[in-house]
Amino acid sequence: MSEEPSMIRPVVPEAEREIGVKHPVLTHGFVVLVDYMGNDAAIVQAARVSYGQGTKSVRDDRGLIRYLMRHRHTTPFEMVELKFLVRLPIFVARQWVRHRTASLNEYSSRYSIIPDEFELPPAEEVRHQSTRNRQGRGDPLPAEVVDRFRSDLDRIAQDAYHAYTRSLNEGVARETARLLLPVAYYTQWYWKCDLWNLFHFLSLRLDPHAQEEIRLYAAELARLTRLVAPVAYEAFEDFSLSSLSLSRGERRAVRALLEGKTPEAACEIAGLPLTREDRKPMVSGEGVEFLEKLERLRTSE
Ligand SMILES: Cc1cc2nc3c(=O)[nH]c(=O)nc-3n(C[C@H](O)[C@H](O)[C@H](O)COP(=O)(O)OP(=O)(O)OC[C@H]3O[C@@H](n4cnc5c(N)ncnc54)[C@H](O)[C@@H]3O)c2cc1C
Repeated sequence: MSEEPSMIRPVVPEAEREIGVKHPVLTHGFVVLVDYMGNDAAIVQAARVSYGQGTKSVRDDRGLIRYLMRHRHTTPFEMVELKFLVRLPIFVARQWVRHRTASLNEYSSRYSIIPDEFELPPAEEVRHQSTRNRQGRGDPLPAEVVDRFRSDLDRIAQDAYHAYTRSLNEGVARETARLLLPVAYYTQWYWKCDLWNLFHFLSLRLDPHAQEEIRLYAAELARLTRLVAPVAYEAFEDFSLSSLSLSRGERRAVRALLEGKTPEAACEIAGLPLTREDRKPMVSGEGVEFLEKLERLRTSE
């Protein structure tokens, strides 16, 4: 407690330049960085309350932030907050709102009229149901199926909006008339989150298992977050986003690999199934996911 910490409000010039700038996402959506509080220095400042100035000689700021991230000392990261304005389709908002550790305030379609803007996915995003990821999309579809889907969505959305405006004109309350609009329509909100929970959001929503549309928003949030706290973001990438965790069974399988077994034999030894009871190969499950992890190890840098 000998030396008082600096109380100068941290300012990040790279982030300042982004304040209020609209970054388009999807057809009518965007992400804006509205404000931020704190930066890498705020994380260090908070951590030094617990570790004391004594840490200064042994760890530089970057080393301290990386230590905190590795050892999941999370609260110093909560000292940084970012506030965004986001315009997004309701089907993306449904996924986003599940993240409870943020504060949000949404455009009210009870007070205001919903603009005539809906998401019509580009043709290349209309694909087959994935056979491997039950929630995802996979192979391309025939062009006529894609065209029919897109023209159906276009027509239904336009019809719905026509019925919405007619209902409003006939006196139906806005809170009731909005029931006519599909989830492809857009909403808008302010969303504020601390850095630790933002990293958690990003780890889930940048992941290939997340839906493509929310991943595009997550990528824009990630880019802006990196500007505010570049050292913390780098640590997040190194120790969370690009890291690989191993279950108990997978550790057994790795040991078998180190002893010279093939990946398939290692799965067998570790009890990670690769085939179903009828001997057909599995397309998902623990064994398949372990082989995918090995592939990631082989192919990623
Ligand atoms: C690829 C993917 C697929 C998904 N599929 C589905 C689906 O099919 N159906 C569905 O309903 N949801 C689905 N979800 C949503 C998912 O189950 C989570 O609700 C969402 O990802 C938010 O995660 P979270 O709770 O960790 O985040 P946050 O709500 O931000 O919480 C962060 C952390 O705080 C703690 N926490 C917060 N609130 C509580 C609480 N009340 N009790 C205990 N701990 C708490 C937890 O540790 C939590 O991890 C999916 C998410 C993803 C990424």
